[in-house]
Amino acid sequence: MATSVAPRVYKNFINGEWAEPRGGEAYENRNPANTEELVGMFVSSGPSDIDAAVDAATEAYKTWRLVPAPKRAEILYRAAELLLQRKEEFSKDMTREMGKVLAETRGDVQEAIDMTYYMAGEGRRLFGQTTPSELPNKFAMSVRQSIGVCGMITPWNFPMAIPSWKMMPALVAGNTVVLKPAEDTPLSSYHLVQVLTEAGIPRGVVNLVSGDGPNAGAPLSKHKKVPVVSFTGSTAVGRIIAEAGAPDFKHVSLEMGGKNIIIVMDDANLDLAIDGAIWGGFGTTGQRCTAASRVAVHKSVYPEFIKRFVECVKALKVGDGLDPKIEMGPCINEQQLKTVMSYVEIGKGEGAKMLTGGNRLETGALAKGWFHAPTVFGDCSPKMRVAQEEIFGPVVSVIPIGSFEEAIEVANGVPYGLSASIYTKNVNQAFAAMRDLYTGIVYVNAPTIGAETHLPFGGTKQTGNGHREAAISAIDFFTEWKTLYIDYSDTLQRAQIDNAD
Ligand code: ADP
Repeated sequence: MATSVAPRVYKNFINGEWAEPRGGEAYENRNPANTEELVGMFVSSGPSDIDAAVDAATEAYKTWRLVPAPKRAEILYRAAELLLQRKEEFSKDMTREMGKVLAETRGDVQEAIDMTYYMAGEGRRLFGQTTPSELPNKFAMSVRQSIGVCGMITPWNFPMAIPSWKMMPALVAGNTVVLKPAEDTPLSSYHLVQVLTEAGIPRGVVNLVSGDGPNAGAPLSKHKKVPVVSFTGSTAVGRIIAEAGAPDFKHVSLEMGGKNIIIVMDDANLDLAIDGAIWGGFGTTGQRCTAASRVAVHKSVYPEFIKRFVECVKALKVGDGLDPKIEMGPCINEQQLKTVMSYVEIGKGEGAKMLTGGNRLETGALAKGWFHAPTVFGDCSPKMRVAQEEIFGPVVSVIPIGSFEEAIEVANGVPYGLSASIYTKNVNQAFAAMRDLYTGIVYVNAPTIGAETHLPFGGTKQTGNGHREAAISAIDFFTEWKTLYIDYSDTLQRAQIDNAD
């Protein structure tokens, strides 16, 4: 297969230079659709590489914070232009390193482009407030201030979009960055950092350190000189990072698991709902934090829904995502495939009805990758593990429900709260769902997946810790408010005392 980048050793990017790891070790990054294909060698970094990157970012922060925000934004704007020019090349490389189909990796790169343009625009906003003082001859306003070095730890399912969601708001606000991408997808981060470099980002402002969680992620998340940590990944690791940051009162933003639901009511447009459940359940091989891994269907349309949904699932074309005919790619790695297979056994064991799939795909070329058949469990009860736990694979659990109230109870009855959706034509029911679904995202008549960069992204309960990514909410996380009072009265004026009658 033609490759746009010859396999080679990709280094860390520290203080404006591509740097060898201190330990000198490298690991292989292989194509999950064809493990015979080596995408590249990446360095296994350790604490001393993290130290070097944090030192560079600390030094660079002294000057970067003083660059006017519109000037910082111009660099981002140029980076967005470069991303746009190289979208196709980066999308293909992303499909090779993580397996999702080309249409989706183009979407991933586009998300990075959108976020970069959007945050470039913020360089001329970053608004604060002015407000009258309670005292005469006194002026009051609030401004945003940057914080310092931001540690970023990212997952493999959106290899360019997620790093861009974190980096672009942090940078435009005047912070510097140390990025530790997921082990499975460092190449897309490499491309993103390369583009920022070409766009003119000064030395040390952005640093990239590849490696695994315990050796590179953990020292970054605990580093004394890193006041801000932004993480996307599993709830288990998010908890470790929150605990690691607590003694130093780090600002920690966590985007974690989901067990998202599509509710199909009795008046739903079934064609639309089935299309949505296919896209929501099997897009990115179900490996999205917003994936619709549960579908709750009203009993009166349940038989019809199941029949047609399963037919569509059986027709899905699985294979190498670079082939335009393919609709679903592989699992990211062997471990993830094994997790999916173990949940299939769990589902069978707890009495869920296997309607299609349930096995690894190994015929022909598929044997070279980590492919699993798109799988549907029917007649699930809401408390089954397959209906409660995040599987992060191509497995959808369908739950029959008898009423709107029951649907909401089932939807909210999981430990996560990222995204939920309802298919209905009843406007009253749609508004009641928007009010009662306790999630960070609610969709009406569309599946659970698909985030726009200018709206807040995140979830409730064990999905997040109260912060939101994207939109102006990302700027809120990467800045702190400073309140400024200017007293030009030439007298001592005491707030709450001198103006009280
Ligand atoms: P996933 O299951 O999606 O891979 P993880 O939470 O395991 O999610 O990984 C997300 C990111 O967190 C990756 O970049 C990974 O290397 C990193 N990571 C894993 N363990 C730790 C840890 N103990 N400390 C810091 N980062 C970690």
